[in-house]
Amino acid sequence: MSITPLMPVYPRCGFRPVRGEHCHLIGEDGARYLDFASGIAVNILGHSHPGLIGAIQRQAETLMHVSNLYGSPQGEKLAQRLVDLTFADTVFFTNSGAEAVECAIKAVRAYHQSAGADHRHEIITFKNAFHGRTMATISASNQDKMHHGFLPLLAGFKYVEFDDLEGAKAAIGPNTAGFLVEPIQGEGGIRVASDAFMHGLRALADEHDLMLALDEVQCGMARSGTLYAYEQYGIVPDIVATAKGIGGGFPLGACLATEKAARGMTVGTHGSTYGGNPLAMAAGEAVLDAVANDEFLAEVRAKGERIRARLEQFIGNYPDLFELVRGRGLMIGLKMRPESRPFVAHLRDNHQLLTVAAGDSTVRVIPPLVIDDSHIDEFMDKLSAGAASYAVPVAA
Ligand SMILES: *Cc1c(COP(=O)(O)O)cnc(C)c1O
Repeated sequence: MSITPLMPVYPRCGFRPVRGEHCHLIGEDGARYLDFASGIAVNILGHSHPGLIGAIQRQAETLMHVSNLYGSPQGEKLAQRLVDLTFADTVFFTNSGAEAVECAIKAVRAYHQSAGADHRHEIITFKNAFHGRTMATISASNQDKMHHGFLPLLAGFKYVEFDDLEGAKAAIGPNTAGFLVEPIQGEGGIRVASDAFMHGLRALADEHDLMLALDEVQCGMARSGTLYAYEQYGIVPDIVATAKGIGGGFPLGACLATEKAARGMTVGTHGSTYGGNPLAMAAGEAVLDAVANDEFLAEVRAKGERIRARLEQFIGNYPDLFELVRGRGLMIGLKMRPESRPFVAHLRDNHQLLTVAAGDSTVRVIPPLVIDDSHIDEFMDKLSAGAASYAVPVAA
């Protein structure tokens, strides 16, 4: 037998973390890495956060899981907090981002079909988007590399160029049910939607009675410098999928919706065995306790600006290596001229700095939101040393 016990779907690297200490990860061999990847935008409180650990420990001792057939004081409490903090009137809890997007897709269709418009099923999505790895969420993305081997896709998605309002408008037809868009594309390379695009989608949705569903799985939960990125556009969405940072490392996601958008999501239409379990709710509470306040969010924006300013200055020293810096808050993309993946591996293997490669030759800088200036200094030192020691691989 040559297959590995862990199904070999990931290109796993040699770093094997066994312990986390605040903004650092320690490997099996004892080596210490600066973690500016955060488990891909998940560990927003860093590792070993006392508030999060305490909340999970206390809840684990009290009650971990019960069925959604029973009343949920824990779920009601966290849902109410999210409702109070956002545009939403109602919340469905999931265990992952893809499930939160699935719920968003189902809500968009059900909005129309519960009112008798059964033909309205088509959702307009955007090129280079990433919405997850389930059949519906890979179907929502135009990326062939995620489709290969898994055909046929789920019908009913139309792909349009990201940030192309005219294209989105032209794609609307009699079967259109809504839009699904990341305000800031994560896997796609930290590409920030323009104000005009987001406002335009809102206006088109209003004009044609379409649902505007946002995938904030990566950019949401304080990452962009506001609790949700849509706030910075001054628009009100109908549906938002959120996950990653919301559990701070505990598996948790949610689909937030207005009352109107959730009109099709009635008793018996949707469900999840684990979704909203008391343990996950405790983790979600601890994360909100830490991040859902103006001081914390202002700090995220300020730290983001400090890193941005230093990166802008730094890339001037390496015009052949780096093209530009973009992003919002602590969701920063460093767009390279050569492919970013080998450089991310170089930073990791030779300078003990963890970042994440993304599309469009971009290095994702997505640290825990609790970094301080010492971590920013350490990051810039490692990045500078990494750029200085980097020999660009000759293209094959
Ligand atoms: C990570 C991600 C998802 C999928 O989340 P999972 O928890 O891996 O299912 C969906 N949308 C976006 C924007 C993401 O970044």
